[in-house]
Amino acid sequence: MLYSNFSLKFILLFKIKSESKVKTNLRNRPLYFFYSILLLTMVFVFSGSTPPEEGMYPLSEISKLDLKKAGLKIDINEIYNPKGSGLIDALVNIGGCTGSFVSEEGLIITNHHCVFDYVSRASSVENNYLENGFLAENKSQEIPAQGSTCKITESYDDVSDIILQAANKAADVAERTKAIQKKSKELIEEAEKNDPAIKAEVSEMFIGKTYILFKYRIIKDVRLVYAPPKSIGEFGGEGDNWVWPRHTGDFSFVRAYVAPDGSSANYSKENVPFKPKKFLKVNPNGVEENDFVFILGYPGRTFRHQPSQFIQYQEKFLLPYTAELYTWIMNEFKKLGENDPKMELKLSSRIKSLANTQKNYLGKIKGLRRLSLVESKQNEESELKQLVLSNKNLTEKYSSVFEEISSVYNEIFELGRFQILYPQLLNNNMIMRIGNSLIDYVEEMAKPENDRKTQFTEKNLPAFENRVNQTFSDLFPEVEQLTLTKILSDAVKYPEMEIFPPFAKLPSEKGEIEKFVNNIISKTELKSINDFNRLKTKSIDELEKMNDPLLSFLFELRNEFKPFTKKNDERSGKLNILLAKYLEVKKEWQEKTFVPDANSTLRLTYGNVKGYSPVDATYYKPITTLAGVIEKSYMGGEYVIPSKLKELYDKKDFGRFKNKKLNDVPVAILYNTDTSGGNSGSPIMNAKGEIIGVNFDRAFDATINDFAWSEAYSRSIGVDIRYVLWVTQKIGGADYLLKEMGVALK
Ligand code: ASP
Repeated sequence: MLYSNFSLKFILLFKIKSESKVKTNLRNRPLYFFYSILLLTMVFVFSGSTPPEEGMYPLSEISKLDLKKAGLKIDINEIYNPKGSGLIDALVNIGGCTGSFVSEEGLIITNHHCVFDYVSRASSVENNYLENGFLAENKSQEIPAQGSTCKITESYDDVSDIILQAANKAADVAERTKAIQKKSKELIEEAEKNDPAIKAEVSEMFIGKTYILFKYRIIKDVRLVYAPPKSIGEFGGEGDNWVWPRHTGDFSFVRAYVAPDGSSANYSKENVPFKPKKFLKVNPNGVEENDFVFILGYPGRTFRHQPSQFIQYQEKFLLPYTAELYTWIMNEFKKLGENDPKMELKLSSRIKSLANTQKNYLGKIKGLRRLSLVESKQNEESELKQLVLSNKNLTEKYSSVFEEISSVYNEIFELGRFQILYPQLLNNNMIMRIGNSLIDYVEEMAKPENDRKTQFTEKNLPAFENRVNQTFSDLFPEVEQLTLTKILSDAVKYPEMEIFPPFAKLPSEKGEIEKFVNNIISKTELKSINDFNRLKTKSIDELEKMNDPLLSFLFELRNEFKPFTKKNDERSGKLNILLAKYLEVKKEWQEKTFVPDANSTLRLTYGNVKGYSPVDATYYKPITTLAGVIEKSYMGGEYVIPSKLKELYDKKDFGRFKNKKLNDVPVAILYNTDTSGGNSGSPIMNAKGEIIGVNFDRAFDATINDFAWSEAYSRSIGVDIRYVLWVTQKIGGADYLLKEMGVALK
């Protein structure tokens, strides 16, 4: 989920893509030694089992794993079986998160934070489902989660040869990325041609080397079934986010619907619950410390195969600037909502997403320093260079690779924060986003369908319209005034922004910027969806001639950005070739099998339920309990609990979900798998492939694992299925859901 917002846009805009993954070499570092000792000690003391390998394994790699040795008790074929069905058929990608089917009637379990936006859109001040929770007593009461879809992986095909052939024919490096995109689009259209419910995507697995065409089945009617109150689903709020020990009941249920003939269809009363090829068996007995677990899901983005300069850029510019910007915006949003419950509700989802990214980035900054990651990557690269120089064949092929990567990055460093701020300006401010979408629409629709960007093909237009509608419902002039003023004030603050004429000529006085923004927001004709629909029928010339302050500013930004786009294409084309070679050298040097970086495609990771010792003089146990919820509740604020929960606890009414050893209901679990943003909502499965929890987070010190994974500090957090079922039954009163999942009530 995390990389689905800003960072991904930044990455797409500047196309610094890497889809490959290597274990970061820490062997020169004293810390590595420390961690190895720590790790060995922990393994020895606490389990006696071998630690899992780093890896978010793609479907193509699953059969090569020795999961039996790791603890799996079912056949690998039962997980992934291209000729029949397997557990992967129970998996869905839902709005950038993961979910899984848990009944034959299309019931999906995912995280509360993954449906937070739907719940807040369905809520009003009078009927606040976020605060109070929501339960559909029967199917007719389920609420359509407007605009949300989910997708199921159907099949995949290696199309690397076709893509690379097209790329190698490109006239120059700047054309290379476009050639890859064009060929991908052709393959996608071909794959989607015969079935309107299929959406295809070409995913770059290893940059410049491996490309896979995925086919996804799309379900367009998703409805909210049960969400616990915020005081359970978001218990601990931002204070506890990215933190262990954790006590959040971060789960919810939704249901997938299709047309009566089984085809994918938009919401309609006539639709019927979707019958999945496979659904997961719920095991109400959960797991114990040290048990083997595995996770299937759609991790968003990791950057472990990127060169040291990529990490340096993150450390110097992207992470601190974004964290600072989001902190500022969040604080302002909170003030706006202080005495205005309607505004508070409207902004809650945006605040949540900003806060999530901000804290994750702070965790990464801490991790980068703690591990001296840039330095250790640089050391690794020195070794790679030595290897290249020590062998004549390698020297011939790779001698200039490292210098060339450096020179591409020198240009990127010169742009500094500009390349972060510019996409923020177009995307993080709803008024700018809407104006930009209008110009994009008019420009693209003037072209023949084949030449349009993918989001403007006939098939994808409804999704575009949906996004426009949602942006309008998120747009509040006073909020946009604030954020636009802030971003433009930053645009005049940093010297590197002067390279861009529209920024260079902005007034330097904050009051003047405020006036400039006020003029844009108050005088633009684009204020509602009706305006959008009226203006979208105009031509680009007509739009330009309107002299609308918003559109004129956007036209200026877009025109002046053209030379930068050309340069970006060039850099991206160069990196596509260079990083492929960088990886080849790494393969020579490192004996390990390579697994591609996460790229929102379906992956498997495995490990054990395990505690750890992230900081001096601590050891964290891997299972939390209701007693811990009660303890935290005395702090009030974000830790307030529903009175029902306290009553049940006082009566020790744990139902069948009590764990005998703990004499309590387990709430959350900690495990050493390899997960990332996007794994939110992933089913955590036991050795038999039964769901025993739902993944929702990582510990603060594990946020760095997007750049470098280590068993010593990488820990993921999930809500225990026993807590899910206990809350659903005892607090939600939704016995029927337990029955539907085949879970006996007593
Ligand atoms: N809570 C996380 C997210 O927001 C999940 C993770 O990154 O591990 O995506």
